[in-house]
Amino acid sequence: MLDRQTWQRDLARRAKNLGVRIHENIRITRAQLERMQKEYDWILDASGAPSVTSRLYSFTGHYFQEYLLAHQLVLASDFRALWPRIKIVFFPNLPAKYQPAYYWVFPKNAGRANVGVVCTVRGILNRDRPDIKKLLADALSAEGLTDAVVLERGGGIAASRMLTNLVYGNLILVGDAAGLTSALHGGGIDLACLSGTLAVDAVTGGHEGVAAYQEKLTRYMQDKLALERITIQKMRALNFDQFDDLLCGVTSQSRFTRFKTALCHPDMFYTTLKWFGTKKEIPDWPV
Ligand SMILES: Cc1cc2nc3c(=O)[nH]c(=O)nc-3n(C[C@H](O)[C@H](O)[C@H](O)COP(=O)(O)OP(=O)(O)OC[C@H]3O[C@@H](n4cnc5c(N)ncnc54)[C@H](O)[C@@H]3O)c2cc1C
Repeated sequence: MLDRQTWQRDLARRAKNLGVRIHENIRITRAQLERMQKEYDWILDASGAPSVTSRLYSFTGHYFQEYLLAHQLVLASDFRALWPRIKIVFFPNLPAKYQPAYYWVFPKNAGRANVGVVCTVRGILNRDRPDIKKLLADALSAEGLTDAVVLERGGGIAASRMLTNLVYGNLILVGDAAGLTSALHGGGIDLACLSGTLAVDAVTGGHEGVAAYQEKLTRYMQDKLALERITIQKMRALNFDQFDDLLCGVTSQSRFTRFKTALCHPDMFYTTLKWFGTKKEIPDWPV
């Protein structure tokens, strides 16, 4: 587990050492972005979902086709029993269409933790969706944390379907702005890093490089996405105990149990082999 703020501060420090100028606490408006388009050769938009580009080109709705809705608290309480491990608990009673849905307890130390909840939603106007605050209240109650001190509140959406177009003029979308969070677990830091790296690499190749960006990114992600899709299908089709058995099977220490699980789920076995078995060259990160 990485502490995001510490990691991001370190990335910023390394970028500054390489001569990057960072302007903090500045909100880019649509009009500013339009002006910047004339000033700069290329712009990578990593403003999350919905992105500033989507406001300029009027496609904010695309982020809400399928997304994970998250709500998280930073709590002060006694987490000694869990620290330094983490806990993830599924909501077996929620209808399949809202799955994946789960809550997490990620202790930062023995006295402080991020506790959050996430579920899948389709369509911005869809009123038929779980009450995310109620789900979090249920999680806090299950964990005996109803009296914990709330230090911070946060949350948001994680667009879990890659947008059909990632390049608008000289604007290139990366990370959440490109709709790259995992539909399985809502994590997106890995793909934000990957797409950022590939976008920088694309820009160095000029118009030709940028034209190939989306296709290259898709190639890098397709095996991981295929495995996630199969896992989600199983999560929705199997009952809770069957899915639990599957998770126990694939993570078992025993080779025999893993082999038996692979025989019962050959589709999953095949896509896992494909994902882990294919080597992909990632452009170098500057150090
Ligand atoms: C509650 C929650 C928990 C999560 N936990 C995890 C996790 O454990 N692991 C994981 O891998 N992923 C996690 N994710 C997903 C992860 O946060 C994102 O996928 C990741 O941060 C995407 O990075 P990004 O740089 O593309 O966008 P973001 O991190 O969203 O960054 C966008 C940045 O752009 C800035 N910005 C927005 N608009 C403007 C503007 N107009 N002008 C200037 N700046 C602007 C924002 O302030 C922000 O700093 C979580 C998401 C949520 C909501």
